Amino acid sequence: MLDDQFLIYVDRLQNGHKEKIELELDPAFLGKMEWGVEFQKPVIIQGECYTTKGELLVHLEMKTEVTLPCAICNELVKHPIQIRNFYCVESLNRIKNGTFSFKEIVCEEILLDVPLTTECNDNCPKRGELAKYFSKGGGSHPFSEL
Ligand SMILES: [Zn+2]
Repeated sequence: MLDDQFLIYVDRLQNGHKEKIELELDPAFLGKMEWGVEFQKPVIIQGECYTTKGELLVHLEMKTEVTLPCAICNELVKHPIQIRNFYCVESLNRIKNGTFSFKEIVCEEILLDVPLTTECNDNCPKRGELAKYFSKGGGSHPFSEL
């Protein structure tokens, strides 16, 4: 996996030059998830970077989708992740070798957006059934094996 795509070459950003960022990435760069948490869609990152007054500014939008099991029925639930207007500011003095990688900050932002628990449609229809201990005789909603 090349990490080059996360690199910003600061010397290309002189004289107010802005550079566009447009990436569609395999979610593997996010690393290993907790059990049941999966990213199956590409991570789309769009934005721009520029320098001003001794600082590098990175402005990003990130979009993807995570699936995780419903806390009640274990059915996989899709949860869209969309982060708008994310800004990162780094002092140019702190940038070594003329390059800045935004990989870590993107990972952090996306993972912060993964809910700790979720339910189907924010209110699992099986909630009621569980409360009644499946008193209807059961069998009508076999839990799907993952
Ligand atoms: Zn559910």
